Amino acid sequence: MVIRMRHTRAHTANRRSHHALKAPTLAVCSNCGAKHRPHHMCLDCGFYKGRMVVDMSAKKKAREERLQAKKEAIQAQTGDYGQTDLAPVEAEKVEEKVEKVEVKEEKKKKEAK
Ligand SMILES: [Zn+2]
Repeated sequence: MVIRMRHTRAHTANRRSHHALKAPTLAVCSNCGAKHRPHHMCLDCGFYKGRMVVDMSAKKKAREERLQAKKEAIQAQTGDYGQTDLAPVEAEKVEEKVEKVEVKEEKKKKEAK
């Protein structure tokens, strides 16, 4: 609803009386004890109603393997940066900054002359 005119404070308060957030209701997993949405599979262990619906440990393992493969692919593509923990994009930014600083120093030297 679009508010076109000034309302009284009471009118505004009445409208806002429904704006409070409610805490979500959560159920406790019968298998691992973690909290999960009621009538939904437990996201920690993949159990629903006492039986395994999705093998979450296998999913986790597959995900880690996927991430590792991706990391290796990136490293092979960009070349190893040695001991720096920076991602390739960040390392490039640092190099750009270093170049800019060098250019500034050169300008200063020229001005000094
Ligand atoms: Zn669980």
